[in-house]
Amino acid sequence: MTSKYVTDIGLEVHVELATRTKIFCACSTRFGGRMNAHTCPVCTGQPGALPVLNKKVVEYAIAVGLATNCTISPISKFDRKNYYYPDNPQNYQISQLYLPICREGAVTIQTPKGKKQIRIGEIHMEEDAGKLLHDANANTSLIDYNRAGVPLIEIVSMPDMQDATEVIAFLEVLYDTISYLGVSDCKLNEGSMRVDINLSVRREGTETKGTRTEMKNLNSFRAISRAIEAERERQIAILERGEQVLLETRRWDDAKGASHGMRSKEEASDYRYFPEPDLVPLVIAEEWIAEIKSAQPEFRQEKRNRFMTEYELSGYDATLLTESRALSDFFEQVTAYCHNPKRVSNYLMGEGMRLIRERGIELKQLPFTAEHMGELLVLVDEGTITQNVAKELFEKLFDGDFEPRSYVMEQGLSCVSDTLELEKVIAGVIAENPQAVEDYRNGKQKAIGALMGKIMQQTKGKAAPDVVLPLLKSLLVL
Ligand code: ZN
Ligand code: MN
Repeated sequence: MTSKYVTDIGLEVHVELATRTKIFCACSTRFGGRMNAHTCPVCTGQPGALPVLNKKVVEYAIAVGLATNCTISPISKFDRKNYYYPDNPQNYQISQLYLPICREGAVTIQTPKGKKQIRIGEIHMEEDAGKLLHDANANTSLIDYNRAGVPLIEIVSMPDMQDATEVIAFLEVLYDTISYLGVSDCKLNEGSMRVDINLSVRREGTETKGTRTEMKNLNSFRAISRAIEAERERQIAILERGEQVLLETRRWDDAKGASHGMRSKEEASDYRYFPEPDLVPLVIAEEWIAEIKSAQPEFRQEKRNRFMTEYELSGYDATLLTESRALSDFFEQVTAYCHNPKRVSNYLMGEGMRLIRERGIELKQLPFTAEHMGELLVLVDEGTITQNVAKELFEKLFDGDFEPRSYVMEQGLSCVSDTLELEKVIAGVIAENPQAVEDYRNGKQKAIGALMGKIMQQTKGKAAPDVVLPLLKSLLVL
């Protein structure tokens, strides 16, 4: 029955901007901190306090607008959105309704059916609200205004998405773009990116969109997928019964796997918007826009393609290495030293990622320089050390930086490829492991692995495998 229906989904995505100070005052935007420590008369809505616009917020909003192919409005204005809620000390939110800063953009997503354009209606700037903390035991609610006045941009898409896969692809493009710009960390689970879903269904073949519902603040891809699926089915069931979908805001309860109606959806007129009288209209010079545009980074898709051609990496490697700008930058810095992109990629994606996870650190907290990682890999490339030794030294770099080349010399970790010296070790291993030798001579190829292991053990991993293996084989058949 569901195949007779088409789903139309549009998103409103709030993104917290990573400015140092709030949008209309000089209070810190730092997450956490003692409750209400980052507040002042402006962000707590004291009578007579006046907002002053943070220029960085405008710069970041323009940067996101340009990266999502929007037109930047030469004149934009702020408006008051009036509503009462205890986390909103002014009883209004300063937002933009009539003249938002960015309009009519679009991004391209990759779907199972190919590329698709998702239009962006507008991007506007606004302030965040505080946080309510409900203490059920004490039957009390507390308010923390540290978040009040933290800058947000709201990205409003057109209802161009048809299912959860497209929604997630769209959010991933936003994530890649915004985090590459460095204007937000876009963490869904920490609330620096919050997604509201507007969804409606219509019978296949009809053009007019159905009545939509809105689900607010979904904070994981899983919750988004489940909420979309459940809401689509709920609306279809209503239409199948011959009833009408109500225009309303619903809350998705991910634990229950169901949503419930909260309130009838408000329209702009419910908020009695009017131009913000405490702020002048914002006139944006073309030179400033050009300046922001010229400072835009290479974005993930371009970078991924360049990595495949310039470094001859597979699509898989290039995709992983460009997951964050920091990772791709580090990769390029290391490669600049050792000129072996494939090896750098292998070490970073394999041992590197494992150690980063194990130590619970972030890439920017690596205790060693790209130069020293590069030097270590050069030692492998030129045959000075074995992969075994390199892996040990790589792990050691995570304990603290050192110069790999001089360390290898001091500690005598160079490869042993001296045939006479190796022959002695091999002869000893053969004498001590008669069973394995017997097995090999009887045709058990695997037995050679055990012997190699013993040789590596005795040489502390320094024996050059390409020298040892033929030598061992020749001694075994004697
Ligand atoms: Zn403040
Ligand atoms: Mn908003």
